[in-house]
Amino acid sequence: MSFDWREAPEAEYAVIGDPVGHSLSPRMHMAAFKERGLAHRYVAIKVPKLELPEAVARLAMRGYQGLNVTVPLKEGIIGLLEAFDEPVRRIGAANTLDLTRMAATNTDAPGFLETIEPLGLPSDAPVLVLGAGGSAKAVVYALLQKEYSVLIHNRTREKALALAEETGAEMVDAIDLGQARLIVNATSASLSGHDLGLDWQYAHPDAVAYDLSYASGPTPFIREARRAGLRTLDGLRLLVAQGALSFEWWFGVPAPRCAMMSAVGL
Ligand code: NDP
Repeated sequence: MSFDWREAPEAEYAVIGDPVGHSLSPRMHMAAFKERGLAHRYVAIKVPKLELPEAVARLAMRGYQGLNVTVPLKEGIIGLLEAFDEPVRRIGAANTLDLTRMAATNTDAPGFLETIEPLGLPSDAPVLVLGAGGSAKAVVYALLQKEYSVLIHNRTREKALALAEETGAEMVDAIDLGQARLIVNATSASLSGHDLGLDWQYAHPDAVAYDLSYASGPTPFIREARRAGLRTLDGLRLLVAQGALSFEWWFGVPAPRCAMMSAVGL
């Protein structure tokens, strides 16, 4: 369930995006607030890309204190900020805002690293990142910080090329799944049920297929990777990891991760 930004209810925190009705962030953050005895409300608000400046101004005026920012707004939000940290400057995208200061941070990058740690990838493992939007930028930044070798492919070639040039990663025109030990779907294709049409039979048998998106069942990306016998990971663990880091940035106290995990069914 989501609200139109013009009809945003009384609340203090929200996730904004388009689409956003599927988001489990309200359920997860409400569980965290309850666990920490905070009397805040967290809702999902639909904000189309072109209406971002008016929507954010309205939410600030309505007394909203913090926002999570999701697809497709993570890059556009930067132009509205008065303050941001070094990772946001380098990534070029933000997912967590303090509306009282118009300040932002990016918790997708450290959250993503938390989620791949248990995979035990070799330190020099090649990683293929599909997509070049706000979340792909955070993922590429995080992977390069840990010195993985990163290949980027995107539907719109110019965006992949620009991201590769900015970061020192490599842009690839053709997808060769056999090259990668981790294949990250950082596109929003899964949100609309689109399959990327990858040739999973060519994937390395030890590769992990990681879809940043999550859905009530396996996404097309996860389903096809499983069919080829690969290990898979969907976006639920990232949802909790980035959400816990947002909570800690807003409130300066440890996030109740167990409560947040069980709220999203982990
Ligand atoms: P953006 O809108 O910034 O970028 C979308 C990207 O997806 C672009 O590279 C776009 O390509 C590509 N894309 C969209 N549709 C298709 C398609 N049908 N086929 C191929 N490529 C496509 O979105 P974000 O980067 O913010 O988010 C990407 C996804 O990651 C979302 O689904 C989001 O929910 C998920 N995510 C989940 C998180 C979690 O907590 N679990 C955290 C962060 C992200 P093009 O440039 O050609 O338009």
